[in-house]
This record gives sequence, structure tokens and C-alpha cells, in this order.
Amino acid sequence: MKNIKDYNLEELKAELLSIGEKSFRAEQIFKWLYIDKVKSFDEMTNLSLDLRKKLNENYDICNFKIIKKLESKDGTKKYLFGLSDENAIESVLMEYHFGKTVCVSSQIGCKMGCKFCASTGIPFERNLTSGEIVEQIIAIEQDTNSKISNVVFMGIGEPMDNYDNVLNAIKILNNPKGLNIGARHISVSTSGVVPRIYQFADENIQCTLSISLHSANNETRSSMMPVNNAYNIQELMKACKYYIDKTNKRISFEYALAKDNNDNLKDADELISLIKGMLCHVNLIPINKIENGKYTKSSLENIIKFRDYLNEHGIVATIRRELGSDIDAACGQLRRKNLKN
Ligand code: SF4
Repeated sequence: MKNIKDYNLEELKAELLSIGEKSFRAEQIFKWLYIDKVKSFDEMTNLSLDLRKKLNENYDICNFKIIKKLESKDGTKKYLFGLSDENAIESVLMEYHFGKTVCVSSQIGCKMGCKFCASTGIPFERNLTSGEIVEQIIAIEQDTNSKISNVVFMGIGEPMDNYDNVLNAIKILNNPKGLNIGARHISVSTSGVVPRIYQFADENIQCTLSISLHSANNETRSSMMPVNNAYNIQELMKACKYYIDKTNKRISFEYALAKDNNDNLKDADELISLIKGMLCHVNLIPINKIENGKYTKSSLENIIKFRDYLNEHGIVATIRRELGSDIDAACGQLRRKNLKN
């Protein structure tokens, strides 16, 4: 069965025309799905009985089941959702002063194999569809009876490795007749899939691009992220500069500090030389310790020293607040534990 939430508004209009319905029905269905957030076609009471029957027979409305929910002392909630094919994915809800942010997964498992990531132990199964990406936000809005203002593609999976579905999900999230989340409030993170960064730059959408950089040194970065063997730092920077030139938007570089690995001032100097003068921001993250992981977190004192050093050298850098550390909020950890049990 086709997932009705896989269609953006234009596609849904075309789909309805193809089954002999009027295209304006698409806007009615969009409203039911994304504003009223109903869980069945039968609740779409302004559609004819005949159309509701057709929808029931041919489309799935994609309601996730909450398999597990963990709540941190700081209000962060982590969800393990069950999908219709028995797979499970994770999403995290974080509360910031500027609103509620959901960190979504884009794939079941991940092929990228970053050494510091809990998802590395999860074999790649398949891409999530656009509807399955969007449903993560809807299910959390339903569960918390609240409105999500920001979405970050930083959960399990490499969004740029599921490019078309991620882009389509953004169209649905962003549509004023859909979930109406402004593009500026949507952030897509990549480990550095260079060809897709060029493509993303050419899309003319206003989302934020985050790059998981983690080191300005090819040797260190390759040891942390195998993707660096395919696209090294110089190629990555060329793509980032293209993105900035094309969009005039600031890139966010993510830098997870691991003790004695990438956290001393020599590493900071390399980073400064690499990105000085670029329209960018550095997000420093205390690395999450994962089971069997070889990295340990840098001390807070060291992270502050690293940040101050960058700031003194003209690089805007902030330390990301750690949320949900008491509930395994790093991506992949809940799913890994649940699968073992
Ligand atoms: S950090 Fe992201 S890209 Fe890297 S293995 Fe984990 S989920 Fe995949």
C-alpha cells in the first residue's frame, strides 16, 4: 500500500487526479493529516464516503506505534517508533528556549560507519520514506500535544544518502498547508557526501546545512569517519564554499571533542586555518561515550579552552548544551539496547 504521507501537496494533487478525484481534495487531506493530525481516513469527514473508501483501500495513513519512550530530567524525550514492516527507528524531542526541536532519523541503520557513533553497530536496512520522516514529527506532536518548531536531520542515517526522500520530507514539513515549519528552522546534517552538498546548494531552499567535520586533519578525520577516504577535507571545503557562495547562508560545522584525539590547541590551529574567513559557525559537542567506543569525552575545562581559543582567533564557536545524557540520547543507543533485550 502507498503511504499517503509520502506525497507532497503537488504530488498528492496529481495522485488524486489520477484516481478520478478533484485536485482540491489534496488540500483537504493535507489539512486533516498535518493540522488536525487524524489517525484514520474515516475521520476526514468533509470527504465523500466513496473517496474515504478508496483511500482506505489503496493508501496507508502511516501511524507509528511508540515502542518505548524515555524522558530525561532535562525534559528531553527519546522515542523508539515501530514501523509497519517491524523495523524500529529513533527520534528525539529536545526543549530549547526558542522552541521544541525534533531530531529525526533518515534511514534504518547507516552505511557511513563513523567510529564515534552508536548507529555504527546498526546494519543498514533501508531508507526511510518521506512519509516516515514526516511521521516522526507528527507522532511526537500527537504524543506531547504540542507544536514542533524546529527539525534537525541528525538522527540515525546519513540524510544525503537518502537525498530525494529527505528533500521531499522537507517540502511537506515546510508547506504552510502542511506542518508549516519554516525552512530556516530545518537543519540538514551530513558527514560530508560532497556531490550532494553541491546538489543541495542548487536547490534554492533556505534550510541550514550542518557539516560533521570533527577534525581539520585528514589523517585524524579519516580515522574517525571513513567518508573522509572518499571525499577528503579539501574536497569537502570546496563544496562548502560553493554552498556558501550559492546560498549566502552560514554553514554550521559540528566538532565533537574526544580526549587526546582532536581536542588540543594544535587541532584548534588546524581548524582555524581551514575555515578562517568562511561564513560559518562551529558547534562544539562533548563526544558521547558509546559501548565499545574508543573515544572518551574531552573535559569541560578543555572544551571551554578550545572554544575560547577559536573565538580569540575570529571563529564563532559555541558549546552545544548536552541534553538527555541520562537517557542515552545519542542516536542509535536506544535502538541498540532495545534490540539486545
Ligand atoms: S554519525 Fe551520522 S553519518 Fe555517521 S554513522 Fe552515525 S548516523 Fe551515520
